[in-house]
Amino acid sequence: PGDPRTDRFPREVLHACYTKVLPSAEVEDPQLVAWSDSVVELLDLDPEECQRPDFPLLFSGATPLAGSLPYAQCYGGHQFGMWAGQLGDGRAITLGEVVNSKSQRWELQLKGAGKTPYSRFADGLAVLRSSIREFLCSEAMHGLGIPTTRALCLVTTGKLVSRDMFYDGNPKDEPGAIVCRVAPSFLRFGSYQIHASRGKEDLEIVRALADYAIRHHFPNIENMTKSESLSFSTGNDDQEVVDLTSNKYAAWAVDIAERTAYLIARWQGVGFTHGVLNTDNMSILGLTIDYGPFGFLDAFDPSYTPNTTDLPGRRYCFANQPDIGLWNIAQFVSTLSAAKLIDEKEANYAMERYGTKFMDEYQAIMTRKLGLPKYNKLLISKLLSNMAVDKVDYTNFFRTLSNVKADPNIPEDELLVPLKSVLLDIGKERKEAWIGWVKTYIHELSSGGVSDVERKASMDAVNPKYVLRNYLCQSAIDAAEQGDYEEVRRLLKLMERPYEDQPGMEKYARLPPAWAYRPGVCMLSCSS
Ligand code: AMP
Ligand code: MG
Ligand code: MG
Repeated sequence: PGDPRTDRFPREVLHACYTKVLPSAEVEDPQLVAWSDSVVELLDLDPEECQRPDFPLLFSGATPLAGSLPYAQCYGGHQFGMWAGQLGDGRAITLGEVVNSKSQRWELQLKGAGKTPYSRFADGLAVLRSSIREFLCSEAMHGLGIPTTRALCLVTTGKLVSRDMFYDGNPKDEPGAIVCRVAPSFLRFGSYQIHASRGKEDLEIVRALADYAIRHHFPNIENMTKSESLSFSTGNDDQEVVDLTSNKYAAWAVDIAERTAYLIARWQGVGFTHGVLNTDNMSILGLTIDYGPFGFLDAFDPSYTPNTTDLPGRRYCFANQPDIGLWNIAQFVSTLSAAKLIDEKEANYAMERYGTKFMDEYQAIMTRKLGLPKYNKLLISKLLSNMAVDKVDYTNFFRTLSNVKADPNIPEDELLVPLKSVLLDIGKERKEAWIGWVKTYIHELSSGGVSDVERKASMDAVNPKYVLRNYLCQSAIDAAEQGDYEEVRRLLKLMERPYEDQPGMEKYARLPPAWAYRPGVCMLSCSS
């Protein structure tokens, strides 16, 4: 159901999933900053079209896109563990869907296109700084092979937006910008929660929206019949197995739980922290969605919390994400239970499957990152604790680890040579610990019978050389705020192939420079 009103007046929108609302066209002289070639291709666009003079007008919402039917979605969510009621698309406006030549459906959404009924007290706009981060990280995640919403293009609006800068408290005028986000669907856990929270009469909306999602985005579940055995594994032997063929909503909940577990395991693998894992930022498709105060690990630190709004609680720190994923799934399945779509046993089963899937995936990822013949819990936890003690760079360590040779006869004083560049700062007293670890590691590798060359190739294919470190984003932002967009474009190209050594680009694999640690420079908050 849609909202009968089409104005932007901020309000509770009851009994509706969306409101038809047009981009507000708070745009003066929109300029194209960058576009993603691979998204252009997904949408069957001709790259030449991006250079048409009206392209920035269309993707800033200044000129209506022919055939579009713009709307903003209603959703709610738990923010930092507390039910926050209605949130909704406060600054994102969907233009419509494109069906490409492969019959894939892609929703196009402008983020920063002005107020909607869901804007509450805020302005509906986005600044260049945050838009660069969202644009680049969407495409960087895709380059890493991790599920994510995509970004077609980034345009500046030519207008200034006032933002409270949290570190000195003084409002600052910043250039406005709009990202065109692209995904099969932007439905979130909170898209379901909001209706269940509004009582009995809206429970039918939960069902209708579940049916909609299954029909359009979960063909495996839509097509399931009783006789068919599904692509679902049956879980561990000691688990009570729930028959997923008898209730499509239970199968759906399990699918979403498993996608979420897979996603968060992949984040752990590349050292990504989302920053704001509220239930309104959890995609039912298991995509990374809503890039704000995210960060990739530099030095390994399980308590890494890029979002300053989340200090000192650190609810969404790097190491908490897997548990938070489960917490969020628990909220989602309780919504489905409230709507009588699944029973308690099925709800519990979905949560159990989250745990199983996460552990399977996490173990597989870490095993591949180390190039081990089989999972070794002790070896991996010992490594991570050593890395935390010595503040070892997460990305560069794993990238360099593939240089270790599986030769048990290497003399003790040469064991750390291949890792020299990533263990520069360790003191004498810590050397022993690392030598001990490398010895066990080599012992484990030699039992695998894989050649050093082969192992290096497979490790380098899962351990990226380049990740979108916050300081890299910041340099691109600083240049862009001066009107120079080259660095944004360079980073975009670089992050499309993060697992390849790219000649001349070595400096992008470096640790953060001193300026990045100056107070306020790389600080991020929910308003990022
Ligand atoms: P987030 O923390 O980015 O997931 O946002 C939480 C909620 O605040 C969502 O409903 C957003 O649409 C809304 N929101 C964030 N920034 C703005 C803004 N500048 N204008 C309007 N709504 C916003
Ligand atoms: Mg959000
Ligand atoms: Mg946001």
